[in-house]
Amino acid sequence: MKKYNFNAGPSILPQEVIKQTAEAVIEFQGEGLSILEISHRAKYFQPVMDEAESLMKELLGVPEGYRVLFLGGGASLQFCMVPYNLLEKKAAYLNTGVWSKKALKEAKGFGEAVEVAASTTNIPDNYEIPQDADYFHITTNNTIFGTEINDRKLADIYRKKGNVALVADMSSDILSRPIDVSQYDIIYGGAQKNLAPAGVTFVIIKESCLGKVSRYIPTMLNYQTHIDGGSMFNTPPVLPVYTAVLTLRWLKKNGGVEWIEQRNKTKADLLYGCLDESKLFTPTILDKEDRSRMNICFVLKPEYQDLQDDFFRFATERGMVGIKGHRLVGGFRASCYNAMDVEGVQALVNCIKEYEKLH
Ligand SMILES: *Cc1c(COP(=O)(O)O)cnc(C)c1O
Repeated sequence: MKKYNFNAGPSILPQEVIKQTAEAVIEFQGEGLSILEISHRAKYFQPVMDEAESLMKELLGVPEGYRVLFLGGGASLQFCMVPYNLLEKKAAYLNTGVWSKKALKEAKGFGEAVEVAASTTNIPDNYEIPQDADYFHITTNNTIFGTEINDRKLADIYRKKGNVALVADMSSDILSRPIDVSQYDIIYGGAQKNLAPAGVTFVIIKESCLGKVSRYIPTMLNYQTHIDGGSMFNTPPVLPVYTAVLTLRWLKKNGGVEWIEQRNKTKADLLYGCLDESKLFTPTILDKEDRSRMNICFVLKPEYQDLQDDFFRFATERGMVGIKGHRLVGGFRASCYNAMDVEGVQALVNCIKEYEKLH
């Protein structure tokens, strides 16, 4: 049976990318060796790292003066690397859920960290950004509760920030739509949602934002180390970086972020449209403007709550994988990352409609 992978992370990758990764595990570029057993200093790997950086720059339109790094440690390590490198006196955070809250917690260990607004069910926009902050931190997509900062609210943040540096965790919506990178000092994320298997973290960083704090920064936690080392100060996660290159090639070949944005919009409209009309289900995020295109959360209406396990079984029997909601939210969550095609979302919609006919 065909499986439809709606896992929240690690998550779906394009089938051809998985095949090409598997081929490279057997033999890398006709060299008679697996990618798993070559040195990252070997002549074959440097071009992979170079291509990873240049494709990220090309697809996202990264301007001059920025570097793209590929590091270990996950987005969670960035929660502390950001304040380590940028926070001298004060930082400001927009708290839109579990991941922003974790980021804010780390910042508090380095100086004053203020929460300008907090909500898990919509994207607040009634706040000011303190102009004396060293940076303002946002999480563009709330993976767990299913809210996302749309283009209009991002533009509002760009206007409000004035000269304050902007830092964004884009773990779960990177490369899902065009983004104005020039507005940011740092964009980071774990690659395991839209880009690669778990194990690599991307960091897009404006070089001029560094060197402004007075504390000692341990070598491995200092962005400058990784800029100077071209992401090869120490052994990089070789295989995930290679898969990232394959995913970026796939995206470029198909039409880049403009193409994928349209496809993501089509998918989200399809599923939210079905849920908005549903007799049994309701989307958990009611404000349409703040709904995530990547993580679509829904629950059974109060009068149908007892169908929870039954629908889960019904959907599983039809090939739906990973649609159980996060334990903090309950219900269901269909993560529709870049690699999920319209056909997959249509299959879920058909499954929901079929189930409704039975009740
Ligand atoms: C998944 C996720 C994280 C955690 O990433 P790790 O790589 O596991 O540390 C952080 N932020 C957001 C928005 C996420 O979706």
